Amino acid sequence: MSKQPNQNNNKKGKGGLPPVKGEFLRNILIVLLVLGILVTSYSYISDYFVAKASIDITQVATDVKGGLIKNIDVTDSGLVITYKDGTEKVSKKEDNVSLTDSLNGLGVTSDEISKISVNVTTGSGFGYWFGTIIGPILLPLVFTLLLIWYLSRQVKGAGMQAFSFGQSRARITDPDDKKQKVTFRDVAGAKEAKEELMEIVDFLKNPKKFIDIGARIPKGILLMGAPGTGKTLLARAVAGEANVAFFSISGSEFVEMFVGVGASRVRDLFKVAKLASPAIIFIDEIDAVGRVRGTGVGGGNDEREQTLNQILVEMDGFEPNEKVIIMAATNRPDVLDPALLRPGRFDRRVVIDLPDRKDREEILKIHSRGKPFGEDINLGLIAERTPGFSGADLYSLMNEGAILAARENRLKVAQFDLIRSIEKVMLGPERRSHLFSLKEKEITAYHEAGHAILASVLPYSDPVHKISIISRGRAAGYMLKLPIEDKKMQSKKEFLDDIAVSLGGYVAEKMIFGDITTGPSNDLQVSTALARDMVTKYGMSDKLGPIALEGAGGKVLFGQGVSDKEYSGKVGDEIDNEVSLIMNNALKRAEETLAQYKNLLDIIAKRLVEVEVIEMEEYEKIIVPHGISLKKKKTIEKGELNVVS
Ligand code: ADP
Ligand code: MG
Ligand code: ZN
Repeated sequence: MSKQPNQNNNKKGKGGLPPVKGEFLRNILIVLLVLGILVTSYSYISDYFVAKASIDITQVATDVKGGLIKNIDVTDSGLVITYKDGTEKVSKKEDNVSLTDSLNGLGVTSDEISKISVNVTTGSGFGYWFGTIIGPILLPLVFTLLLIWYLSRQVKGAGMQAFSFGQSRARITDPDDKKQKVTFRDVAGAKEAKEELMEIVDFLKNPKKFIDIGARIPKGILLMGAPGTGKTLLARAVAGEANVAFFSISGSEFVEMFVGVGASRVRDLFKVAKLASPAIIFIDEIDAVGRVRGTGVGGGNDEREQTLNQILVEMDGFEPNEKVIIMAATNRPDVLDPALLRPGRFDRRVVIDLPDRKDREEILKIHSRGKPFGEDINLGLIAERTPGFSGADLYSLMNEGAILAARENRLKVAQFDLIRSIEKVMLGPERRSHLFSLKEKEITAYHEAGHAILASVLPYSDPVHKISIISRGRAAGYMLKLPIEDKKMQSKKEFLDDIAVSLGGYVAEKMIFGDITTGPSNDLQVSTALARDMVTKYGMSDKLGPIALEGAGGKVLFGQGVSDKEYSGKVGDEIDNEVSLIMNNALKRAEETLAQYKNLLDIIAKRLVEVEVIEMEEYEKIIVPHGISLKKKKTIEKGELNVVS
């Protein structure tokens, strides 16, 4: 994504020298220069001072007696003696004793003293001051202080990075940094999540109100949701709303090569955050350190466990009134160590769903800021056609649209640009340069037509939205289905139809060409995995019944998930049987259906070879005369834009 969050770097606002290295050199030069000036001027001035011959106080006494002295200037304990012949000499007397007393003590009579003029100045001569105090003591002191001040300013400029002198590595966002500030206004949808987080904002703004009434504010908030749903964005928005410092670090940054580094980073991070309180610590992708501990095979991952332990210790070790709130984000809440989720730790959990149609429109609106639009733009329609898209997908859709317009040298983004971007975001860029032979084109056309006919005929499949044999990303061709209604759950019947639709391409190829290509391999993988899930996760097998045979998470071995078999070998065999039963039934249905509509299959495939893309309107006109009724379309709130390739 374009915004690199929270990196205040020291590149901005400093002179023309290249950053870091140049600046460092310049600092050294300045220091050397000032030092040089100081040394020369000091020695010059004190030379003038010291050049006069220095004599003992007893010598002074003798000379006074001898009547050689014209006058004596006294500045504190320093004496400047002017002789009658004009020479000047310096001397010292004891502190706190007057010159007269000192001379008296040395046998000089008051009479003799009164013959010379004595000027007492209480040490105000510049030379004196410079020589005795400013030069040797004050100047270096001031200079050192200035240097420290200057250096610390530099460090502050680098985004309060002084804090990271330790090693927490956290990026810090200064609450006063207007440019990087994110607020709830920048986050569309996610209403419930925002409401929950509003409470946290309120606490960070007015902690007293809560503490006075004895309310215990949650220390830890866990944001859960699919990738790209805006978890990181929301966390930053909380900091922006509350106007507090925001320390963000990614779970994987704790884990380093050396054991113990992660734990010390955690310590450091918490220490610094407490100093800066009120503050938010944000641990992104916490599953990288927070996975279930202690499978212990082969020593496990010591570093990760130590880091996690340290996080737990730190979370237990500070009081609610310390005004530090820890937020964390994950898209794998299922693999987190239960210790993290205990009360007093991440006990507040906020789920962020994929956006529904209305939210998608809002998100599109947010990301259209600063993009000039043509008159034909209809964001509502784009939102309708993008079920299953996350906020991040929508962001990149908008961006792709603008790029398309710019590439074609237009000044405004048109609806067509956005429509084209939907598929680009979903499947990757078109690969028009990827040339097919006519034979390959035909095979692809029959394959996609096979998927499409099954999707239209089977009652629980979503209707066909588009068929294309232009290759995109890894797919040679694809068929898009668009759900007709709000969907939160899927049923067994839908799964069975989906599997049959997946096999449509395979069956069509076999039926027409009597041969099978590598094309359907992905279809087979996806549908077999779905069939297995039906048996082992959702209890949808008649024979095995309602047992979840696969754990939700899977244990962790060497940092990787290993499937968590909780059944015997005999049950394993039964699972395999059930899966192949489902697959074979689906295959039979696909074969029967395509045999029945063989005619239509030819028509659609031929048309595809001709035009490469068939949109919904044209497709419906083709199938209706063959006795296939259309599925009624309602407005889609949620669900998924399905692609079968
Ligand atoms: P996550 O951390 O959940 O993976 P991010 O917060 O990194 O997702 O989101 C990536 C980008 O997607 C954001 O920077 C933002 O541009 C966009 N985005 C995601 N959700 C939203 C939303 N609800 N409103 C506006 N933009 C969003
Ligand atoms: Mg994120
Ligand atoms: Zn396919």
